Amino acid sequence: MLDPSAVSSPESAVSGTAPAPETIAEAMRAIVGATACLTGDTDTEKYVTDYRGLYRGTASAVVLPTSTEQVSAVLAWCHAHNVAVVPQGGNTSLMGGAVPELNAQAVVVNLARMNQVLAVDPINDTMTLQAGVTLSSARVAAEDHARLFPLRIGSEGSCQIGGNVSTNAGGTAVLRYGNMRDLVLGVEVVLPDGRICSSLRGLRKDNTGYDLKHLFVGAEGTLGIITAVVLKLMPQPACTAVAFVAVTDPSAAVALLGVAKARAGQAVTAFELISGPAMTLVLDYLGNPVPPLAGNPEWMVLIELSGNADEEALTAELIEILETGINQSLVHDAAIAASGAQAQTFWKIREEISDAQTRTGGSIKCDVSVPLSRIAAFVDDASAQVRALVPDIRMVIYGHMGDGNVHFNPLRPAEAVAKPFLAEWYTRISGLVDTLAHAEQGSISAEHGIGVAKRDDLTTFKSKVELQVMWQIKQALDPKGIMNPGKVLPPLVQ
Ligand SMILES: Cc1cc2nc3c(=O)[nH]c(=O)nc-3n(C[C@H](O)[C@H](O)[C@H](O)COP(=O)(O)OP(=O)(O)OC[C@H]3O[C@@H](n4cnc5c(N)ncnc54)[C@H](O)[C@@H]3O)c2cc1C
Repeated sequence: MLDPSAVSSPESAVSGTAPAPETIAEAMRAIVGATACLTGDTDTEKYVTDYRGLYRGTASAVVLPTSTEQVSAVLAWCHAHNVAVVPQGGNTSLMGGAVPELNAQAVVVNLARMNQVLAVDPINDTMTLQAGVTLSSARVAAEDHARLFPLRIGSEGSCQIGGNVSTNAGGTAVLRYGNMRDLVLGVEVVLPDGRICSSLRGLRKDNTGYDLKHLFVGAEGTLGIITAVVLKLMPQPACTAVAFVAVTDPSAAVALLGVAKARAGQAVTAFELISGPAMTLVLDYLGNPVPPLAGNPEWMVLIELSGNADEEALTAELIEILETGINQSLVHDAAIAASGAQAQTFWKIREEISDAQTRTGGSIKCDVSVPLSRIAAFVDDASAQVRALVPDIRMVIYGHMGDGNVHFNPLRPAEAVAKPFLAEWYTRISGLVDTLAHAEQGSISAEHGIGVAKRDDLTTFKSKVELQVMWQIKQALDPKGIMNPGKVLPPLVQ
């Protein structure tokens, strides 16, 4: 039996001494072949640098295996020789989770070549994929069988299904379909010592003890490498209706969501909040196209309904929702997409807000969730407190309000320079926002995970017992600490 008191301040470092980098590279070449084993700064650069360019590590080798057996052999060797392993999908993590630590002799295992759709079963409404299939290819594979795989995130062209499972990705359709955890029926995982643990069965009911797959969903590569998954498929909706809506304030947005759910129920697929400064920023990034709503409203929502009624009926339903919103003084302007192309344009505006911030030199990223009933108060309170610190800060606030998730990303005043501003304010402002979200019974990471960026914050925002249990699971599966060291789990404070 594990004694909780025995879990004392474990270090993130791998226990034992690793061989020299050349020895590691040679062993990896023997397993995956010379062309699938990259070494040297030039070839490994893009695999050791994170999406935002904030974290850069070192690796003895980057390997691109083509089979579960190769992944198993890589992990068995690294386990035997005390070598850190960093699983990597599309490397779109916003938390620095998919790149090695500095001065690490790590092996990065990138799943890009394990990109086969293994099976689509339209009767069982499931598909089985290797972990390296990109999210957009997974969606196309479902569409080819007249089915929907509903996960929708802005990075879908690059991120991989294995990465989506490992981060329990969310996105714009969680309101209706749930996050990745709700969409996974089975996983095949290579454990840190090389054993293969598979539940690729596609069952919706299986009460045969612990449901082990859930340990690996959201584990961010700290417990093993996911090599294949079985995902749920849904019926494809026949039509959608999309509108940009100017609302009075966040509390009007919450009330409008209530109106929409009461009128259209499950048809409400997405409900995204967007602040005026977020819209200004993204329109500038996109070359200033005609704004969807005139007069630069202070708050907007992007609503999508989808269903099996005909398009006219669905649009009529959306109009009724908006009319009720106007009558209740929640809504003061709206633009309904007149075509599929215009709906796509509306969504592009929403999807590009993340990259628009990166282009400006970066904002203070807080990916928080709070209960829907508290979200308006949270946004008001956090905005007021941040403005009290930096009056001209631009409130780039947007996100999946329908499921309680707000990307609260204050951007420096227009005249300030990015680097010194972030150096002075990042920790202070993100700490303040996280504290306010926590006080509202919220989470400091709604969907982006922990990685290295938020690792130490868990000491403040998770209970000691929760952290002890996390470490006990980690030590049971990965006693040598080779899997993605330095990520997710903060050292325990006694
Ligand atoms: C423009 C943009 C928009 C985004 N929008 C959203 C959004 O709306 N919602 C959202 O949730 N996220 C969003 N993200 C964040 C990111 O895309 C997701 O976290 C995504 O799920 C990561 O997938 P990936 O394949 O890129 O994983 P990576 O970045 O490569 O890895 C992420 C983590 O998972 C681990 N990992 C990767 N593959 C495996 C595997 N096969 N087995 C075990 N561990 C693995 C890594 O070690 C790392 O810890 C966005 C990112 C960008 C750049």
